[in-house]
Amino acid sequence: STFQGLRLNPLISAHLASRMNIDKPTAIQRSVLANLLDPNPDIAARDVFIQSQTGSGKTLSFLLPILQDLLPLSSLSYIDRSIGTLAVIIAPTRELAKQISDVLEALLKLRLRPEGTSADAEDGQGGNLTRWLVSGLLVGGSTKTHEKARIRKGLPIIVATPGRLLDHLQNTESLNVGKCRWLVLDEADRLMELGFEESITGIIKGLDGRRKLALNAVEEGKSMEVGGWDWERRRRTVLC
Ligand code: AMP
Repeated sequence: STFQGLRLNPLISAHLASRMNIDKPTAIQRSVLANLLDPNPDIAARDVFIQSQTGSGKTLSFLLPILQDLLPLSSLSYIDRSIGTLAVIIAPTRELAKQISDVLEALLKLRLRPEGTSADAEDGQGGNLTRWLVSGLLVGGSTKTHEKARIRKGLPIIVATPGRLLDHLQNTESLNVGKCRWLVLDEADRLMELGFEESITGIIKGLDGRRKLALNAVEEGKSMEVGGWDWERRRRTVLC
């Protein structure tokens, strides 16, 4: 099967092939995309539970549907800050968050217009998505004032470690997550083991109830109860 056969936007699959050398979906990408890009919106809206090893392509399996969902934003000629943050991705460590953020940045280099068109010069961004779908890495390392300034300018997509994100949710007034549509917990089981359960519970409480959840746990057969959500019952299991 191909990415387009899984209903991935042709703009995105062309970018994957030409810029990232990725032609064919991996097994986990096939199952996750088949679910999250299902033409039936009720099926596409269900939570997913991903069980797969590092190296299986799990990062793109959740980033691609998020990108496709947010792509219509690129028709805006400016960032409407009132939109706020639409996707939150949480990882247990700074290193993991940085890895996800790097893949996301590569995806956001997607060109909306063919190279060399006059519109490229006009927007000064080479016609890519970084202008509209701004992503932000919020991890304990950089200074909080710097992060706050970036949040104020608007971050449609946030990749963060749990403690720092919770800190911003509680203390950074300009962080607007009222319309957040996606929550990804990467390595959810490790997040729990590392003692982030309380932070995750706080984050879930701070997010709107209509968001979609994508949990990513490495180990099989673990049940997780966080923030009043029974993951076993709520999740859609995707095994590979
Ligand atoms: P991950 O499991 O998300 O850490 O991805 C592992 C590696 O596989 C990364 O270096 C990706 O760039 C690469 N990768 C992800 N999806 C594909 C694919 N469909 N085809 C080839 N390589 C891929």
